[in-house]
Order: sequence, then structure tokens, then C-alpha cells
Amino acid sequence: MNLDHLIDISKRYGSDSAYVLLGGGNTSMKADGVLYVKASGHALGSIDAGGFVRMDLAKLDQIWHKQYSSDDQKREDEVLADMMACRLEGEVSRPSVEALLHALLPFTYVVHLHPALVNGITCSQGGEEATTRLFPSALWVELVKPGFILAKTVKERMGETAYPMIFLENHGIFVGSDTIEGIEGIYEEVMNTIETAVERKPDFTPVAYDEGAVASITAVLEGASGQKVLFETNAEVRSFLANANSFGPVASSFTPDHIVYAGFKPLWVGEGENLLDAYHAFEKEHGSAAKIIAVEGLGFFSIGEKPLPLFLDTVAIAVYSESFGGPKFMSEEMIDFIRNWEVERYRSQVAST
Ligand SMILES: [Zn+2]
Repeated sequence: MNLDHLIDISKRYGSDSAYVLLGGGNTSMKADGVLYVKASGHALGSIDAGGFVRMDLAKLDQIWHKQYSSDDQKREDEVLADMMACRLEGEVSRPSVEALLHALLPFTYVVHLHPALVNGITCSQGGEEATTRLFPSALWVELVKPGFILAKTVKERMGETAYPMIFLENHGIFVGSDTIEGIEGIYEEVMNTIETAVERKPDFTPVAYDEGAVASITAVLEGASGQKVLFETNAEVRSFLANANSFGPVASSFTPDHIVYAGFKPLWVGEGENLLDAYHAFEKEHGSAAKIIAVEGLGFFSIGEKPLPLFLDTVAIAVYSESFGGPKFMSEEMIDFIRNWEVERYRSQVAST
């Protein structure tokens, strides 16, 4: 089977930061009863044929006729085991957790991404209203547990309708078409429509900052974390970090990707607070160290390289969401679910290597 078109489009979107950050998102193709879906741990921007897993579509369909445990952990383990068993012989990679959704959509090509512009809608108070108003042919799905429950919810909502776009609250978008040109056309329409609808865009203009303060905080955080620490600020970041109140719209997690790469919430350090004490207190209270440290009036520090673009993405989403009723974070229950989910722990391990 020739995967060239699928690889091309995966690389194209995967290397465009307006569409994909850190290789997130996934793509698939269906042919002759086989689903070719991105394997977990592969970045879209550099994917080749080895980054796709072949799965038996008829077997995947059997999953809908099975009964699974009502316990979250057990159910996801059972479904994962069944999904692994749907792979064609010889496959060793682990399919994306979103493979079930790819299998469900009745299109040859499916491209699932988490663009900041789109998430400006899916992570906003008026997300459902904006989606139905701007995209009458789209399906909106509210925030539910990812994995099996999400796929099951989409299946029920779809019924017999072939929706070319599915907007997932606090997550991203699935686009399906029988041709590559169809996929490109839909993404263009989606991005242009939202761009026209937003009243304000993030202002990432550089700003001057106290280099001495940044150097000393960087040294403290590198000592405490044992990792390379990066600093970032700009006009938009500075305005969100002006005080504890203005920090509100970027103070938690918008999507699973933000949790996996940037931690479930940033640490806020107000003026006059002891940064090192706050860093240790966060780790003690939450059982994991902060990956983003936001310092009042200054900017933010990223523990390692990966959290940095994700926090800038949080800032962009917060700005876009202003045009759709204001930001809406994932619920605490859902954040806990993601933090404890083996699938996401696997993804976060792969990501940190
Ligand atoms: Zn996703």
C-alpha cells in the first residue's frame, strides 16, 4: 500500500506550528479493510512509513460489541489490549490512543490536530455555540474522558451522518475526507473562518526584561530541577503575568497535550514570594514538580525545552478564546483522569526522551 500522500500531508501539517506543536496530533488512511494510523511516540513532522501501524478495521469494529469494566483504569487497559490485538501480524508499534476515532470516521483520510486557533473555540465558554454558528456541517462533542469513552460518545453522536469535521471540547479537531485535497480544503476553511471571527490575536512582541533577575532565577531552578531551564517573555505573556488576577486565564490546562508536556498547571510566583520555597511546596502538594514557573511582572521559566511552546500555546488559546465568551479549562475531574492515565504517562515518557 502506498502511504506517500498520507506521509506528505502528515509532514506538512506536522512542521507548521500553526497546526502542530511537538509532533502532536495524528493521521490515518483506510484501504482494503486496513487502517494505517500513526503510532504513539512518532512526531508528525518527521514521520515515515514506519511511523504508521496497520490495523484490521473489521476487528476494530468488534470492540463496539464488547463489554468493558466500569472502572476507568481497568476499562482502558482492556481496550488497549484489544486494540493491540487488532494490529496486523508483525506490527510492534503501539497505535495512537485515538485510533478508535480514526477507525470510526467513514473517510479514506482522517487528520486530527490541535491548532491554537481551533482550540480558541474548543476551550472557550461559547465553544458549542461558535462551532454550530461558524461550521454548520460540524459535530460538537463536549469534554468527556479521552480514549474509549470519547470514541464511544462520538460514535453515538454521529449516528449515520458522515461529519467532515468534529470539534472536541478542550482537545482539538478531527477532519475527514476521501481525498487529500478535501482535507486541505477543510483545514483552510476552518482556519480562515476562525481567523476572521477572532477580534484579537496574541501579541508576541518582544519586551525588555531584567536580565540579572532572570539569570539568578534560572540558576536557582536549574539547581532545584537538575534540568536545563529556559526563560521566555513577550508583550502578551507580560500582560497575563501582571498580577494574580490577570494570570487567571492561563492558570490551568486547556487540553491533554498541555498536561502531558507542560504539567497540569503552572506555578505562580507572586512578587515578594520565595521562589524556591514555592517550587518545593508545589512538588510536595501535587506529587510532581512544576514544569512552568510564572513570575509576576517578569515572564515564565520552562523546566526543559518542551513545556515552553505549550505554555505559549496556552497564552494564544486564552487570547483567541476571548472572542468566544472567554477561556474554559478542562474540569478538575478530567485533569486528574489524564494525570493518572497510563496512556498519557506513556506518551509523556516517550516525549521526555
Ligand atoms: Zn488529540
